[in-house]
Amino acid sequence: MDNCIFCKIIAGGIPATKVYEDEHATAFLDIRPVNPGHTLVVPREHHRNIFDIPSQTLSNVMPAVKKIAEALRASGLAEGVNIHINNEPVAGQVIFHSHLHVIPRIATDNHKLWHGREMAPGEADLVAQKIKSALGGK
Ligand code: AMP
Ligand code: ZN
Repeated sequence: MDNCIFCKIIAGGIPATKVYEDEHATAFLDIRPVNPGHTLVVPREHHRNIFDIPSQTLSNVMPAVKKIAEALRASGLAEGVNIHINNEPVAGQVIFHSHLHVIPRIATDNHKLWHGREMAPGEADLVAQKIKSALGGK
């Protein structure tokens, strides 16, 4: 797609530090890594995010995600990984070509995840009902 920075990286039109490619995905280092080895796994097809990418296309990139996770651990850059997708600006998405972050984690990195809260009485049933209704259930 014209004017998409990740399409240009995939096509080789602008530089990136690529670490892996297969027929479905390209993986390159994030230019602003959370930790060394922070890698973006990007479907070759242009889709905005989780809401428009076909399920099969998403499935097709998951082997690359697994390979990167395993390589990060085998390299010693990671003891574990977080796999993360931002979808839409409200969720922090800034590049609108779908991609997954594979973030290496080590015990001393001090990286913080979200903190949940207690649910209010009845909240779970109410929320689950909304989701199930949207899914087409009762
Ligand atoms: P998000 O859309 O929130 O998943 O964030 C996009 C990510 O892409 C950020 O972590 C950026 O640091 C990263 N990024 C942006 N431009 C480039 C680039 N040219 N090469 C590598 N990573 C990039
Ligand atoms: Zn694109």
